[in-house]
Amino acid sequence: MKIVVLVGDGMGDYPVESLGGKTPLQAARIPTLGKIAAAGEVRLVNTVPDGMPPGSDVANMALLGYDAALNYTGRAPIEAAGAEIPMKPSDVAFRCNLVTVADGTMDDYSAGHITTEEGRALVRSLQEALGKEGLTFHPGVQYRHLLIWDGGPAECDCVPPHEFTDKPVAEHLPKGNRQAEIRELMELSKAVFADHPVNQKRIAEGKKPATQIWLWGQGNAMQLETYKALYGLGGGVVSAVDLLKGLAKLAGLEAPDVEGATGFLDTNYQGKVDAALEILGREDFVFVHIEAPDECGHMGDAQKKTQAIEEFDSRVVAPVFQWLEEAGEPYTLLLCTDHRTPVALKGHTAEPVPMVVLTGPVGKIDTQVAFDEDVNAGNAQGMACTWIQQILSRHAAKQETKPTANCGGLT
Ligand SMILES: [Zn+2]
Repeated sequence: MKIVVLVGDGMGDYPVESLGGKTPLQAARIPTLGKIAAAGEVRLVNTVPDGMPPGSDVANMALLGYDAALNYTGRAPIEAAGAEIPMKPSDVAFRCNLVTVADGTMDDYSAGHITTEEGRALVRSLQEALGKEGLTFHPGVQYRHLLIWDGGPAECDCVPPHEFTDKPVAEHLPKGNRQAEIRELMELSKAVFADHPVNQKRIAEGKKPATQIWLWGQGNAMQLETYKALYGLGGGVVSAVDLLKGLAKLAGLEAPDVEGATGFLDTNYQGKVDAALEILGREDFVFVHIEAPDECGHMGDAQKKTQAIEEFDSRVVAPVFQWLEEAGEPYTLLLCTDHRTPVALKGHTAEPVPMVVLTGPVGKIDTQVAFDEDVNAGNAQGMACTWIQQILSRHAAKQETKPTANCGGLT
């Protein structure tokens, strides 16, 4: 039995005027998703435990069958695991975004989707200027980097920069325990970046400069029970982003580096599908994560978000579904999104999202039904992680299973 989870990040949304009052999921041409929804079981599920922020970290933990309320320490520690940066018990990892602040507002949480090469050059300069014993800046991908701070403030309230695009920075600075130390590092980065050759070049090319770092998502090292221990399952997670690679490594799953996987519309879809199918040829579980719909939601671009959802359907869901059908062996296919990223808000919300589970092979499907936010009249039908744990446990039933994370019962 193969278990395949395909995730379009941030696909959920609200009705959008420029889409004729439809949500991007409703406006998109998604024939394969529609067919799978017709043949499978569709539910509207909650992915974010009560009181937790609706981040991709928390929500994707749910889609992997982990209850964030029990296991989560912070986003940055997950990414540190993904980047294989070792953490001591006293270490606190911070996500270190490269951002563009203009006229006191958060103009761009990604510094204009700065390239990895440019981002790494800036972070190396940051390390030379501000790094010291117990304070290390680690270069990552594009605008996403990490700071490991021995004895750093884990409890401070730090707002993710993608949650206040176009809003005043002064109202969103870190607050609480040792806020001044975090704010000081962010302030000091401005001088390091001000006349940096990378920024001079970007400005000359009409691109946004990285004006400073933004620190958030902090926490101590995180641990999860592995898929092997919980379900007797081996497999992998295919994603462009360190967050998902980190969750994979914490879950004891493979996390291959796919060339050209960017986390955006220009990602190497074929390479990701190939990587997923290569894993499926050897193992029974694979989780494919496509970041682009979320990024388009953060940009507030309904057209691009619709395009990203269509490409998820045609370039990821369709070929994987075809492969599973042609293989002819029993499989369970889950299609889902982790949370909503409404283009009107340019940020995440915790409202329920659609998920479909198909047990195959099913042969030809002639009908299509909606896979959107209005499933079950818009009412949530339980926690995603409970449903997914049940599926993983059922298919690993030959093994001794011991699911630990209780996400609350299904209604
Ligand atoms: Zn997400």
